[in-house]
Amino acid sequence: MPALMFLEPGRLAWREVPVPRLESESDALVRPLAVARCDLDAAVVRGEAPFRGRTLHYLRNHLPAAVGQKGLFRDAPFQGPYAFGHESVAEIVEVGADVTTRRVGERVVVPFQISCGVCARCRAGLTSCCETVPSRSMFGFGALGGMRWGGVLSDCVRVPFADQMLVPLPDGASPEALASAGDNVADGYRTVAGPLRARPGAEVLVVGGGAHSVALYAVVCALALGASRVVYADVVTARLEHAARLGAQPVELPNKPRRLGRFPITVDASAHEHGLGIALRSTDHGGVCTSTGIYYEVRTPVPLLDMYGTGLTFVTGRVDSRAVLPEVLALVASGKLRPEQVTTRVSPWHDAADAFLDSTVKVVVARPSV
Ligand SMILES: [Zn+2]
Ligand SMILES: [Zn+2]
Repeated sequence: MPALMFLEPGRLAWREVPVPRLESESDALVRPLAVARCDLDAAVVRGEAPFRGRTLHYLRNHLPAAVGQKGLFRDAPFQGPYAFGHESVAEIVEVGADVTTRRVGERVVVPFQISCGVCARCRAGLTSCCETVPSRSMFGFGALGGMRWGGVLSDCVRVPFADQMLVPLPDGASPEALASAGDNVADGYRTVAGPLRARPGAEVLVVGGGAHSVALYAVVCALALGASRVVYADVVTARLEHAARLGAQPVELPNKPRRLGRFPITVDASAHEHGLGIALRSTDHGGVCTSTGIYYEVRTPVPLLDMYGTGLTFVTGRVDSRAVLPEVLALVASGKLRPEQVTTRVSPWHDAADAFLDSTVKVVVARPSV
């Protein structure tokens, strides 16, 4: 079957790959109907994520003992070719004999991380680090996520632990609108949901940048969850205008602001140490700052003295996509959250190789039947 492969920065291509089959009675096979481009995919195709040369350069300079050791960077994580795509809504086409809650023909959101649902971490909601599968098991990340899972830009994907993994689409929801729900929407949601639960109606600051769509999902989720005001800071005019249309108050970042006021809830989706510093310094006394960006450097400066002064809580780490997903879909079903407001390009499925190279904020490809 054809699968879209990441070859190298700026190059994606369809290649023939074997059709997956059920390997366990708890597996399901699904046919992706709509696939969204994750912000990390966008960085990978732009050549902004670490590749072998850049990564080893860092390690040799900062942590020479780590070169060649087993670890995150040993296998050059974003080195092509690998099957691409990990945000999808799909239709179930086959289930193993032990699958009891999901059925053929159902439309489901497929979380991008593989999780069993029953180990101690999964039961604690830490579905990003399930103990049953190798660490970082994910669709569409090649060696980094374990090659065996494949990518969702293909006609068939094998989903293990189907009863626990797959979450049905809300009635009437379109696959296109929810293509990103199993990753970037969930990521934006978790930055504000917990903090707003503890501080109902609080004002929120979102610093955008590197994680283009996660930042805007944080904006729409904060508004859907009752934030009294959402300020969106960025350097890119198009994204500031987009945030304003979503209901945020846009603030164009000057070169070196120290802070943008005092907010009980702040979000750093800039993936840049400058944006991280602004978000941290703009967090009010006792507030919470959540950073979704990935900082690849061995060391990243943070304003610890300011943080000590305000006694803030800093949260970083990967989203637990499966654990968060039901809350995201409930907010969509309530009519308060419309993730499609963040999408800036919808293209036919067969145009994915081209569409996924677009510099726009959020790309979704969908099959003609959806
Ligand atoms: Zn992702
Ligand atoms: Zn687990």
